[in-house]
This record gives sequence, C-alpha cells and structure tokens, in this order.
Amino acid sequence: MPEGQIIKALSGFYYVNSQGITYQCRARGLFRKQKQTPLVGDFVVFEAENLTDGYVTALLPRKNQLIRPPVANVDQALITVSAKEPEFSTILLDRFLVLVEFNHIEPIILITKIDLLTKEEASHLNMFVENYRSLGYQVKLLSDKPDQNLQEMQATLAKRTSVIAGQSGVGKSSLLNRLNSDLSIKTAQISASLGRGKHTTRHVELVEVSNGLVADTPGFSSLDFEQLSREALPLCFPEFEHYRSQCKFRGCMHIEEPKCAVKAALEQGEIAEYRYQHYLQFEQEIHSRKPRY
Ligand code: GDP
Ligand code: ZN
Repeated sequence: MPEGQIIKALSGFYYVNSQGITYQCRARGLFRKQKQTPLVGDFVVFEAENLTDGYVTALLPRKNQLIRPPVANVDQALITVSAKEPEFSTILLDRFLVLVEFNHIEPIILITKIDLLTKEEASHLNMFVENYRSLGYQVKLLSDKPDQNLQEMQATLAKRTSVIAGQSGVGKSSLLNRLNSDLSIKTAQISASLGRGKHTTRHVELVEVSNGLVADTPGFSSLDFEQLSREALPLCFPEFEHYRSQCKFRGCMHIEEPKCAVKAALEQGEIAEYRYQHYLQFEQEIHSRKPRY
C-alpha cells in the first residue's frame, strides 16, 4: 500500500500527499479505535482508488511533534529575524533558538532585510553572525533581491518539512513569496494565512514551497518558556556543551556554583557574554514562574 504525508486535516478528512498528488482520505475505524490522532505532517499508509475516497490505514512512527503549530515530523525551523525594521534583536533570536533546541528541531537562522544596512551596520551584524555560526548554527543572510542566498534557501527547503517562526514584519511571507514566484495561487494562500489574526481558528496546513513543505502558520508564536524546565535550559545552549562535564557539580546551573567550567570559559572569553546574559535572564523567567498545579 502506498505511503504519503498528511498535509491538511479538515472536517474529518486527511489530505495525504504522495508523490505530488493529494488524496482525500478518511481514517479507518479500526485505526481510530487505537486512539491515535493523526497530525498534519504524519507519514501514513493509505489506500485510495481515486482522489477523493481514500483511507488512512496506519500511522508511521513520528520523529517529533510540535504543539504550536500542531505539526509532526518537522525537519527544521526557520527562525526569521530582520537586520533592521524591526531592529535586530539577539535576545529575541536566542529565545527562538532555545525553544527550537528544546523541541529537538534543527534551527536555521534567517536574517532578512540586509539590504537596509549601512556598511558599518553590516559589519556589526557580522560579529553576531560569526558567533552563531561558530556555535554550529546555519545562518542565511537575505535581502529583497533574488540572489544566490535565495537560491540556497530553495535547496534548504527542498524535500523537508519546515516551520517558519519570527516576529511579525520581519519578512516571512515576502520570503516565501519570493521563493515561490511561479506559484502565485499557493503564495496568496500563504500570505493570507501568515497574516491572519490571533483569534481566527487555527488549523495548520503544509504548503509546497521550493519542493518542500512549509507550515502555513507561524511557529512558536508564544515565546514564553512554559514547557521548559530550569534543568533543561542549559542544554539549549550549545556553547555550554564542551564545558559542562568539567563543572564540579553534576546538574550545575552555571550561575553561583563554585568550580564551574562554563563560568571559567565565560571569563576566558570563550563564551559570548551576551548569550550568557540571555541565559541568566531566561533562567530568572523560569525560576520566577508561578507553579501550576
Ligand atoms: P511578515 O509579517 O514576517 O510576514 O513580514 P512581511 O513579509 O509582511 O514583510 C514586512 C515588510 O517588510 C513588507 O513591507 C516587506 O516588503 C518588507 N520586507 C520583507 N523582506 C524585505 C527585505 O529583504 N528587504 C527589505 N528592504 N524589505 C523587506
Ligand atoms: Zn557549571
């Protein structure tokens, strides 16, 4: 039986994409009884004699699952920040990075609107870019021009399932439109969805962009750390990784503890001060969060 990926779920139907063709399917009764709810992004086994009367018969194992937006098997999160308008903010970027790391999804940092920077501003931004790259993150600089970086983006999206995250106004829908200039119907759909207000019903759909699939609703719109435990936070900072095992105490939070290798590395300038400051700020936020019962 063929396999495919659910790209939309609506009114009891699952829309399964298999080799570029979408089949409207219902879930088999038997499979529903197992109390598994298929999610957009799920890979499934299905049978369909035509395009509208298919059946999903089995759910294949999930690699991961996001709550907001509700998508399974996300390969990468495109964390979008602008170089200007709105002003580049490392704390906002770090917030997104922590959330993506916590969800075990590969982050890709997109910095848009670099065309708006003066030479000086560009070289200032570059210091941060270098730092994020040194941490192992992919960083892509994008402008309003169809340049090589845009072509690289197409390759990055191909054959993968992505979510896109970022403050409003940073250029997410413009970017998707630029990537999909030949698919004007679908892109209109994307911009409309990305631009929609908070109070409309949220159902997520994967739309085809550059031979890949992108969730049409911005990911991680809520940037609080409500799911994140204090203990998980340091694990979301890859630069702590090399030092952690040399801290005197197991479970060291790298704050007040003596003989902390992370703090030593910070003092040596091996860890960027601003990242550590953001770590402290996030830790405070989690620490002062009201317990929920
Ligand atoms: P979204 O809210 O993240 O989807 O942002 P939009 O795609 O709606 O873009 C917000 C504004 O930024 C629009 O006026 C765009 O034309 C503009 N914009 C987007 N990307 C770029 C860029 O790379 N360079 C410049 N100069 N403007 C951009
Ligand atoms: Zn430590």
